Amino acid sequence: MKLYNTLTRQKDEFVPVEPGKVGIYTCGPTVYMFAHVGNFRAYVFSDTLRRVMDYLGYQVKHVMNVTDVGHLTSDEDTGEDKLEKGARQEGKTPQEIARFYEKVFFDDAARLNILTPHIVCRATDHIPDMIELVRRIEANGFAYRTSVGLIFDTGKYPEYAALSRLNLAEQQAGARTTVDPERRNPSDFALWITNQPKHLMQWDSPWGRGFPGWHLECSAMSIKYLGERFDIHTGGIDHVPVHHTNERAQNFAATGKEVVVRWMHNAFLVINDTRMGKSEGNLVTISELEKLGVAPLDFRYLCHTALYRMPLSYTAESLKSARNSLRGLVDFGRNAQVWPVKDPAWTEPFQREFKEAVADDLNIPQALAAAWNIVREGNQRQDRTAWAALLDFDRVLGLGLERLVGATPGIPDQVAELVAAREAARKSKDWAESDRLRDRIGELGFVVEDTPQGARVKPRP
Ligand code: AMP
Ligand code: ZN
Repeated sequence: MKLYNTLTRQKDEFVPVEPGKVGIYTCGPTVYMFAHVGNFRAYVFSDTLRRVMDYLGYQVKHVMNVTDVGHLTSDEDTGEDKLEKGARQEGKTPQEIARFYEKVFFDDAARLNILTPHIVCRATDHIPDMIELVRRIEANGFAYRTSVGLIFDTGKYPEYAALSRLNLAEQQAGARTTVDPERRNPSDFALWITNQPKHLMQWDSPWGRGFPGWHLECSAMSIKYLGERFDIHTGGIDHVPVHHTNERAQNFAATGKEVVVRWMHNAFLVINDTRMGKSEGNLVTISELEKLGVAPLDFRYLCHTALYRMPLSYTAESLKSARNSLRGLVDFGRNAQVWPVKDPAWTEPFQREFKEAVADDLNIPQALAAAWNIVREGNQRQDRTAWAALLDFDRVLGLGLERLVGATPGIPDQVAELVAAREAARKSKDWAESDRLRDRIGELGFVVEDTPQGARVKPRP
């Protein structure tokens, strides 16, 4: 399998750290408001990656954090904690805000058939792990104190800009707009923030009472659950220049190693070429999508129509087309229920095409093309083998086709053959034979309904 690596800017062969296994860490939500469908593009991507790895036979361990402290409204270690701001605005405690939006996030994710990561870890449950990591960073000489707290010295890490590939001038311009005279380098960032008496969530630490910098939680929890060298770290491309660059610097400072082998980033969901985002003021949530008559899984289908590294356009037309395509697959699935299995082998070339596509840096659009090839040929052959192949593909696509079709797994072949024979009898207007076959199907515990799309069979209620 080949995967792109943001660090090397190359697509290369995936070689797991431990044979047969893959560890994936995904930057999770900051739970101070509803996630929007742009965020969910990132989580559909990481979920699809996990599913592809599982499909290709790897034993996957997927870890995702929940940010419930330390993410300030500015990347400059200033401003309010996003959780505390949310709490103040809604007249609740930061914990109440965190638990509420965390629940909504996972409910929305479930409606997108995003599998819950094997480990979901909250920042506030891992303060001792973060303090321990900072101790190591400090002991290795990568930190200094200022009136803000304990600061990471990016000047000590010559590789600092390797992930972002920004030159020093760009980095300085991007890193902060105000100059903090106490900092040694413009890109230096806080590991532990003190002297913020108004901050509600505070913990004791060797550097005084305070709270962790945002980047710390991801370093601490990824290392805790996946070890000091793990396979893949995911997130949206906006995380490359600051959050992931700083995570990588912390990892190195603490362990002396390149902890993450491969960084993978999804491109943005865009509206009129502008990123969907809070500051852009163009957010759409999953519930809002549903009010527009678009099901969460239609959106998942939309995500599959673009390569994850390419921007994806959110428009009324693109949503409609995704919805129609998903309906097309479901209608096909419904029709296929009554077909007999004729030749179990004809789908194999398409299955190969599918597997090659997903193993080529997650080329899901190409994988969908393989699915539609099966639909086309399946319609001609009227062979239920097509349905089995689509269900196999759905382990990756996660469209929940089986549930959408309402199919009971395994309508017995005998029943399917009787239904096909009955269709033939109806076509030749042999009504007596058609009724006889319907009775026979009934005796086997199934009912057949005639719809404009053809016969449908389901277990007798
Ligand atoms: P945040 O809660 O802001 O940290 O974002 C959660 C995830 O969503 C991160 O991986 C972001 O990079 C990603 N993200 C934010 N906006 C978009 C967007 N418009 N399209 C795709 N991913 C996004
Ligand atoms: Zn993170």
